[in-house]
Amino acid sequence: MRRWLVIAAAAFLAGAPAGADRVERATPTMTASVEPIGNGRFRAVLHFDEDAPLWIFHRSAVTREGNEDWRQLSWTVRTRGVRLTRIGNHAALVPTGGRMPKVVEIFIRPFADDLLADYTPAVTFTDGTLALFSDHFTMRPAPSVEAVAALGASFNSLPDYRGGNPRVVFRSGGTTMRHGGERINHKHFDTPAYVTYGSAAPRISDEISALLDPGLPRWLREQLLAEVPGLLDLYAQKLGPHGGGRPELIAAWEGPTPNLVSFGGSVMDETIILQIEGDRLTSPSRQAFGFVRQFIAHEAAHFWLGSTVGYGDPGDAWTSEGGADLMAQRAAEAIDPQHDALDPIESSVNNCAAMAADGPLKAAPERHGQQVFYACGLVFSLVAEHHARQSGGDFFSFWHELIEAERDDGVASVEDWLAALRRVGGTEEQIALISTMHEVGVRDTGASLAALLGSAGYNVRRDEDGRLRLS
Ligand SMILES: [Zn+2]
Repeated sequence: MRRWLVIAAAAFLAGAPAGADRVERATPTMTASVEPIGNGRFRAVLHFDEDAPLWIFHRSAVTREGNEDWRQLSWTVRTRGVRLTRIGNHAALVPTGGRMPKVVEIFIRPFADDLLADYTPAVTFTDGTLALFSDHFTMRPAPSVEAVAALGASFNSLPDYRGGNPRVVFRSGGTTMRHGGERINHKHFDTPAYVTYGSAAPRISDEISALLDPGLPRWLREQLLAEVPGLLDLYAQKLGPHGGGRPELIAAWEGPTPNLVSFGGSVMDETIILQIEGDRLTSPSRQAFGFVRQFIAHEAAHFWLGSTVGYGDPGDAWTSEGGADLMAQRAAEAIDPQHDALDPIESSVNNCAAMAADGPLKAAPERHGQQVFYACGLVFSLVAEHHARQSGGDFFSFWHELIEAERDDGVASVEDWLAALRRVGGTEEQIALISTMHEVGVRDTGASLAALLGSAGYNVRRDEDGRLRLS
């Protein structure tokens, strides 16, 4: 049977966070200057401030469909003697002979399709407004093709890498350009950000600057404008202030594609990006309303779980993803007494049992995508919530304490999360099982999860289809 509701990637993407692998230096190692040149095209001029045999991109994700190098579909190198290529896991600019030029000019037709586990390069509105992502222009020098070919997906193991400080400068080129709702003529970024070009105007309030696609169905626009500030308020009351300034919401409508409801979203520092699509969303329904709320509540939670405190290693993302999922359920219950959280929670339990069965959780996305982190992270979150409730708190108070403990260093790793579970009363057995699933995996995940949830106050049984059911 065909399901008509398809939830696409609601992913918080870490990628290369600012500061994690970059050493701040007075002079940038390279600067990318980007501006529109008409006809929907952009020009990027890359200035390399040191000599290197070749340069590789900080982000080299491929397209979600087809696993292609998206820059090769979107970028045209104008400078002679250099070409765009792929070396192993990495997109690179290499000289075609002789030395690498110090300045490289590129024409760009913005690429608006999804990437695998990375931010969409260009998020487009129906009125032509688009949001362009800065960090796809950042690069670092590399010693040789062989050294790059030997790298894994992360470039941090490249020998002789002493960090760097790439900078991206966006210019308006005479069009309307904005960042965080404010209109600007040029601005440089040393950390990842989206900048918007085009005529769509933001709605700015104390809580948030909202840039919404004028093509979005009206009820959806209204729900976003009404609920996002309320959710941020609820979270702030429960979790304390989030890091950063006034948040920005950028929501694009990707059209009434038949038989589809699709939400894509990500959060970066102060910006939530939503990409919404599907004919089932053109008119309001209780179900669609509920999905939109879950989705934005999940993304809004990332201003705290993800932005205020990050999760460290990519394999640790289940703390933030599962945490944001459970928080979204609890927020929905607070807003809407009719909200039923048990059904999605049971789905997560069963998804975790299925997807964590073949190895360690920390490497599971390589096998199953990010979805496994939402599912197992939510199950583990239920254990933390159980103990927090025993002492008069709730899942928010568990995270509030964790955020305060880690606010200064900015990272709540799996180790930090487990220490918080121990503080709130988690047992050694629970901690050992979660650690084992994270590090090495367990043989019978269904039985292990049933035991784990049994120890956290749930009655767990299997129904006639073998699914785990909670009560
Ligand atoms: Zn998320």
